[in-house]
Amino acid sequence: MNSDWREYEPLALYTTLKVGGVARYLTTVTTVSAVAQMVTRAQALALPFVTIGGGSNLLISDNGYPGLVIVMAIAGMSEVVRGDQVLVTAGAGMVFDELVATTVRRGYWGLENLSHIPGTVGATPIQNVGAYGVEVADLIESVTVYDTETGVEGVLQTDQCAFGYRTSRFKTVTPQRLIITSVTFRLTKNDRPQVGYADLAQRFAGIVPESPTVVRDAVIAIRSAKFPDWHTVGTAGSFFKNPIVSREVAHELQRRYPELPCYPHGTSQIKCSLGYILDKICGLRGFGDGRVRLYEAQALVLVAERGATATNIADFAVFVAQQVYEKTGIVIEREVQTL
Ligand SMILES: Cc1cc2nc3c(=O)[nH]c(=O)nc-3n(C[C@H](O)[C@H](O)[C@H](O)COP(=O)(O)OP(=O)(O)OC[C@H]3O[C@@H](n4cnc5c(N)ncnc54)[C@H](O)[C@@H]3O)c2cc1C
Repeated sequence: MNSDWREYEPLALYTTLKVGGVARYLTTVTTVSAVAQMVTRAQALALPFVTIGGGSNLLISDNGYPGLVIVMAIAGMSEVVRGDQVLVTAGAGMVFDELVATTVRRGYWGLENLSHIPGTVGATPIQNVGAYGVEVADLIESVTVYDTETGVEGVLQTDQCAFGYRTSRFKTVTPQRLIITSVTFRLTKNDRPQVGYADLAQRFAGIVPESPTVVRDAVIAIRSAKFPDWHTVGTAGSFFKNPIVSREVAHELQRRYPELPCYPHGTSQIKCSLGYILDKICGLRGFGDGRVRLYEAQALVLVAERGATATNIADFAVFVAQQVYEKTGIVIEREVQTL
């Protein structure tokens, strides 16, 4: 047996919500060959398996996981300069914000708006991580994956990833079949500040930021006022996605709630601010049952205090979704993945 093959490992230690039962087996992988070895072992034992990174987008059941949890820890980073572009490849287990900090320090533009998002590089394509007007889909050149059905490592180009708003083929077409082992980002040495998003536009009104560091610092300052510190409190950030509705539905909602922020999404749909709906329409900002609540500074963020269970969180999420449905007729979707 591999020395890192653990049994009955408490999964609450592996997620930022800090809840969940035990994994029957758990292993941490630092190389692609270890990924292959562990998947083969799970398959030989007819065990289900799942790959996780930093657990910052996961709600794990109080019953735990009956199979093998593979914790992605492939590290390392390299870069290739291509004219003004820099192709930066990072191991799937690298902490994403370390990658952001390093590239920003080197003066490369691209990832700065995504500063301080918890989790690993390998998880960023899964839900097409985004913040402050930028999504990783805008920057990903390719994704390297280990296919657990064929046992072969391959490379997917961006147009093969079916990226959408907080989604990708890794979530929809082939969940858990492809294990991401590294991601290559296309960054640039040329000035390319993206400060059109409301909070950033306000900070940089009339100013063109001279370096990605300036933008990163601004993003970190904005985020620290909106998100609780996940090191000390249970949270997975935004628990739900912003709802995407038809023009007609958005029009009717804005007739009833003229201040509801809505933005075009693609050519025919509208994305509505769930933060506003939860706060101003449902009156749920700061509301909770003691152990689980919506955060006072940002209603989109669910916070779980010590002692909360996954069941408490799931029940509260159902209650929140019901409130939104009753007030707006919209069925909201979870952003957080359930295991
Ligand atoms: C305080 C806070 C703020 C946040 N802010 C944002 C934000 O601004 N924008 C945003 O988009 N998200 C945000 N998030 C959500 C989260 O940080 C991201 O979704 C992040 O990419 C999850 O990374 P992870 O390594 O923790 O993934 P995990 O939570 O471990 O896993 C998430 C999903 O990806 C799968 N997965 C993970 N790694 C791999 C891999 N290597 N191969 C295949 N599948 C894999 C898992 O099976 C699971 O389905 C926030 C979370 C917190 C706690």
